[in-house]
Amino acid sequence: MHNHRSWYRRLWPLWLLIIIVILAWWPGRSILMNTLTEREAQRIASITPDQGAATTPERLSIERIMADLHWLADAEREGRAPGTDGSQAARDYIIERFQELGLTPAGTEGYEQAFTHERVERAVNILGAIEGQDPTLRTIVITAHYDHLGVRNGQIYHGSDDNASGTSVLLEMARYFSENQPQHTLLFAALDSEERGLLGAHALFTSGHLDPKTIAFNVNMDMLSRNTDELLYAVGTYHHPWLVRLVQRVQAENGARIVMAHDRPWFKAGHTDDWTLSSDHGPFHEQGIPFIYFGVADHPDYHAPTDTSDKADEAFFRITAEATLSFTKLIDQVLSEKR
Ligand SMILES: [Zn+2]
Repeated sequence: MHNHRSWYRRLWPLWLLIIIVILAWWPGRSILMNTLTEREAQRIASITPDQGAATTPERLSIERIMADLHWLADAEREGRAPGTDGSQAARDYIIERFQELGLTPAGTEGYEQAFTHERVERAVNILGAIEGQDPTLRTIVITAHYDHLGVRNGQIYHGSDDNASGTSVLLEMARYFSENQPQHTLLFAALDSEERGLLGAHALFTSGHLDPKTIAFNVNMDMLSRNTDELLYAVGTYHHPWLVRLVQRVQAENGARIVMAHDRPWFKAGHTDDWTLSSDHGPFHEQGIPFIYFGVADHPDYHAPTDTSDKADEAFFRITAEATLSFTKLIDQVLSEKR
């Protein structure tokens, strides 16, 4: 007998590796995912200097935010599907507020930018601007989609967290900045047809209405009002690592628990979903515009008729709203100094 081993036995380290990979990934998928999210959360918590000392500032009215949330997610709005009476009512409500606050109309017809798409007959974005102190600076666009799924099989999909919540905060942030003039011009964009594939955000660019070169940054809000772990996700720091220290500052100042995740490839993220293109910040990212997206993890009422406004966690919602405002103020300041 010759003393040579068959080829497959010489490859034993490879077989071992394959077995380890299968064991680590396949059966333990969900376990791995939870572990990693929790580990990230702990890492974030550990860099917050003094959780006890941080108190959430009160610049936004949570009463007004909650009132807007209840109104937008009310059954009478019928889930705000594009082209419906409920959508029209929501649009009138947002436009009336923009008018009250003295926002400059920035649509194609007043505040409105109507568009069509093969997936939607007629949809309308609502755009209003607050002029910045420094006219040489580019625009910061603040987005939240106001549409939702509408009525399906006779059931109203209220879309309270998704995304009456972001729309309500957008309205209250418009109030704040109308009284506290920013450095950059801020464009407030309540977008339509996000649920049909980010159509409103795409239409900003495909129509030529917005020139990407004139935009400095996008802050997107989508689902801010509830989370059992009281965690808010900040998406975008993987693509723009210079944002990390800004998010850290927001956490330290607001007592918010923010996890920077859901924006990296699976081999770095341990199987957590990549949300880089999952909401209206996606088309901004595709245009090369830096962004941050604030939102919570999916919950059992996500895209269900049970996403109603009574489920909002007022205390948590106040923190996420203030954290989003803090970040927007910070990015306005930092980008005006950076030039
Ligand atoms: Zn949404």
